[in-house]
Amino acid sequence: MIIVRNPDRLDALLQERREKGKRIGFVPTMGALHEGHAALIRACAAASDFRVCSIFVNPTQFNQPSDFQTYPVSRPEDIRLLSGLPADLLFLPSTEQIYPNGLAGLETYDLGYLDSILEGAYRPGHFQGVCQVMSRLLTLVQPDELFMGQKDYQQCMVIKKLLRLMNLPTRFHTVPTVRESDGLAMSSRNRRIRPEHRPLAPLLHRALQGIRRGLSRGDLGPLRKEAAQMLEQNGFVVDYVEIADAENLQLQHHWDGNRPLVALAAAFLGDVRLIDNLLLGNAQG
Ligand code: AMP
Repeated sequence: MIIVRNPDRLDALLQERREKGKRIGFVPTMGALHEGHAALIRACAAASDFRVCSIFVNPTQFNQPSDFQTYPVSRPEDIRLLSGLPADLLFLPSTEQIYPNGLAGLETYDLGYLDSILEGAYRPGHFQGVCQVMSRLLTLVQPDELFMGQKDYQQCMVIKKLLRLMNLPTRFHTVPTVRESDGLAMSSRNRRIRPEHRPLAPLLHRALQGIRRGLSRGDLGPLRKEAAQMLEQNGFVVDYVEIADAENLQLQHHWDGNRPLVALAAAFLGDVRLIDNLLLGNAQG
């Protein structure tokens, strides 16, 4: 695996591959890698000829400075894990290389209602930051294939919108969520869960499974309320439990028995914020 820090070197290496007709696959990450990231890299390897992974902890997508400061960083372990995976190139840029003109006055993106619901509502500015880093990375890598995780369901929708706004031909692939054996969705932030909270963490997934089991035509309010109450009773501080159209993420309060749905939740366990989602009904994979 080649490790590259400099964008000009990255460009030269990728150009060489493109000239040989290789399809470039891309997996962007913020590091502290785990089996969820590994699944993205394996999916990327199956669908492209030259696989690029990036690690960059993007300061502009953190709406809480403390979350940025405490975000786990483990470069030597990350490089070790990547070396055992079918990744061909690791791009490790600095903040100056991603944002050469500084962090002030960066472009903003018209994401419509995606920017104001769910994560957009609870983490103001988060998706603008995600688009700022992704537009730079996509311009540098120009991937044929892009791989992102279903765990960040709304982020997948935002990036599909960004690809349209940037008029890029990149094909988007959503990779299913990888979970611990007890159901907890893998996440870099799980490293920060306190040991006494860890047994409770899978309840977030269980709450969504409860919604899936209880789903029936009609009012969705009681299902959402029951899931949120179960979490609160077990010590979570809930930001939201919502049910949305799986295709456009419009929030749903009634179900007609046909529309594909996704249940999404975000909640704090101590000072660690966990998110998860589950496809329901006809959207179930
Ligand atoms: P992050 O490093 O957290 O920014 O995540 C980088 C990519 O990995 C994003 O596309 C995430 O959605 C994806 N990802 C994170 N956790 C998981 C998981 N448990 N299963 C599948 N993909 C994941």
